Amino acid sequence: MSKTMSKIADHRLLVIDDDTDICDLLQEIGQSCGYETATTTKITDFISTFTSFKPTIIILDLSIADRDGIEILRFLSNESCRSPIVMLSGYDEKVRATAFRLGQSYGLEMITHLQKPIDVTAIKNLLLKGKKEILSPTAERLAKAISDFEMVLHYQPKINIKTSKVVGVESLVRWKPAAYPIMLPDIFISLAEHTGLIKQLTYWVVKEAFQQWIKWKDKGFKVKISINLSPTMLNDLLLPDDLHTLAVQYKVDPTYICFEVTEAGVMSRPQLAMDILTRLRLKGFSLSIDDFGTGYSSLTELHRMPFSELKIDRSFTLNVFKEQEAWTIIRSIIELGHNLGLKVTAEGVETQEMWKKLKTSECDSAQGFFLCVPMAATDYEKWYGTHKPANYS
Ligand code: C2E
Ligand code: MG
Ligand code: MG
Repeated sequence: MSKTMSKIADHRLLVIDDDTDICDLLQEIGQSCGYETATTTKITDFISTFTSFKPTIIILDLSIADRDGIEILRFLSNESCRSPIVMLSGYDEKVRATAFRLGQSYGLEMITHLQKPIDVTAIKNLLLKGKKEILSPTAERLAKAISDFEMVLHYQPKINIKTSKVVGVESLVRWKPAAYPIMLPDIFISLAEHTGLIKQLTYWVVKEAFQQWIKWKDKGFKVKISINLSPTMLNDLLLPDDLHTLAVQYKVDPTYICFEVTEAGVMSRPQLAMDILTRLRLKGFSLSIDDFGTGYSSLTELHRMPFSELKIDRSFTLNVFKEQEAWTIIRSIIELGHNLGLKVTAEGVETQEMWKKLKTSECDSAQGFFLCVPMAATDYEKWYGTHKPANYS
């Protein structure tokens, strides 16, 4: 059995327990705490639901019918699951503690193990605590997170559509408070922008990405890394010098670094942006227009900016099979980009169908969950080690 609510929420609880009454109770608790909740009673259902549902917290029964929860821990570890896991069991403390430690040794975020029967208040408190931390990060909490190294960078490859080879990776920042689910940038970037913390965060991201570039270079592969720059960073005339100084300090070749900025960011103050972007180019960095198609760019302004790449916003890619216009827009953007001398990347390639469709176009490269999800550097290395371009043709 697998029950889910249809609306996608920020807080998603996935339960596995072979007792349907317990599933119902946990579903009720989850929903009362504001979680979209999915319950499963079989391992196979859990595995398929996990992939589509992307839970932000998991409650796991240690024994499921004739099988055991350890199998699930192994599965979650293989999936590099970062969601916190609450273990629930009728077994005594010793068995629970052993399984709990095993989960930790698999690199999983085990938060606690609870004895059955269910303590409703304990579970509610856990869920509410996680949600509070996530829902309302304050400026103080974010500042502390940046200085306490709670930020992590994930990397998502960009893949050449003709050769299926990796042409670069995009760094994407995440916030991982200890024992809480990983937070995506949508939750904290605007807070960082409004509070001025964006500068501190951006420099953390840049230094982290530079260090990673050196680590990969030392391992024998030089990869082009793209770094997102908030539009608010384009107000600072010192930015090109600061980034250049960092590249020199970290011994990073700037031609391997691309800064992505959204068209809206560039267009709000075109002259200032032009000054900053041109100097970044002169210092050897490349530049990309991110989320293209969502703003109202003046093409005359845009084509004078020193970009080398244009990224088609994923809202178009995701709608290709729903709205006919989306494909027409994509093809027009590709043509426009090429006419302006830019490489064109399509974001949001979630399915093989979309990948195949893009192959019929002149688009240069693509990024998306179908090709590879964003992942931590070590996981990316493993993925890269097994990546066979032939599998994507
Ligand atoms: P973006 O730069 O356009 O990044 C691409 C986003 O699309 C990422 O979301 C990525 O996880 C997501 N994505 C990749 N493939 C697919 C797919 O197939 N389907 C769908 N639906 N989504 C896909 P993420 O990591 O949540 O980042 C969201 C935005 O946050 C980024 O959009 C970027 O604007 C911003 N961001 C991320 N990292 C940083 C950073 O270090 N600094 C700044 N200032 N902004 C950042
Ligand atoms: Mg980007
Ligand atoms: Mg984008």
